[in-house]
Amino acid sequence: MTAHILDGKAFAAKLRTQVATHVARLKADHGIVPGLAVVLVGDDPASQVYVRSKGKMTVEVGMQSFEHRLPDTTSEADLLALIAQLNADPAVHGILVQLPLPAGLNSDLVINTIDPAKDVDGFHISNVGLLGTGQKAMVPCTPLGCLMLLRDHHGSLAGKHAVVIGRSNIVGKPMAQLLLGDSCTVTIAHSRTADLAGLVRQADIVVAAVGRAQMVPGAWIKPGATVIDVGINRIAGDDGGTRLVGDVDFDSCATVAGAITPVPGGVGPMTIACLLANTVTACSRANGLAEPEGLTV
Ligand code: NDP
Repeated sequence: MTAHILDGKAFAAKLRTQVATHVARLKADHGIVPGLAVVLVGDDPASQVYVRSKGKMTVEVGMQSFEHRLPDTTSEADLLALIAQLNADPAVHGILVQLPLPAGLNSDLVINTIDPAKDVDGFHISNVGLLGTGQKAMVPCTPLGCLMLLRDHHGSLAGKHAVVIGRSNIVGKPMAQLLLGDSCTVTIAHSRTADLAGLVRQADIVVAAVGRAQMVPGAWIKPGATVIDVGINRIAGDDGGTRLVGDVDFDSCATVAGAITPVPGGVGPMTIACLLANTVTACSRANGLAEPEGLTV
């Protein structure tokens, strides 16, 4: 069997077009331009790449992008003051603080200082609580993107057994909440899970969010299962350079799975598209307007 490839790149492009349409409508009908502020503290190279591409795509869909780059010597008080200023700024509808923050800054405190209505990453405790209780929340971008791909492929997910490998606050836990919300039977696995292989073999849906290159082999996958690979890992390539791989071994899994996301071109592009979608959703809610359909869950 050869798995159907879940093309996150194409899906994300479609989602960004939808976002751009809503942005144009907000401008034309209400004179509102959604704005996204991204705060980067320090000079982590990977974070710089993410922030640059977020800014570029924000502008491409017609929104305003506000970038705040601060040195890694920034004090917590100064960072909190910037967030307070962005919370109060009516031109800013979404605020994202790029993680990880430099040592010495309390990420939980920083994230929980963001106005929950502008928390487009969905990491504020209020949004975590809203999601966990099935209420309207800002939903974390990566799991939101995974859910969109799964719904697009399956339609209803009800009754399916989903195994989420990874229990981080950013991916694993919110992913599990979303799958539960769609009536999956959900198992969350982590580094202390006994017999991970046996557990994954029972899954109709596997979401791998571990951060270990090619850790899940095809032998663990139930024939016909759907595999969502969140991992982004850089390994040595055959040509002496490096290449990106996921947390699943794509080649062996693709011969057994019914559907699978590639790396790159799967979950990755969905994350930024969902960030833009969340910003439009936040902007619509802030202005008491009907929420655009298809941009959140
Ligand atoms: P974290 O490091 O925060 O969490 C990793 C999770 O994997 C932990 O819960 C850990 O368990 C678990 N784990 C580690 N080793 C094993 C093991 N041997 N068996 C089972 N579980 C294990 O990572 P993130 O959730 O932030 O990210 C996961 C991956 O997703 C990374 O590759 C990251 O780069 C990628 N990512 C991709 C995004 C995208 O846009 N595509 C966005 C965000 C992340 P424990 O809790 O017990 O330590």
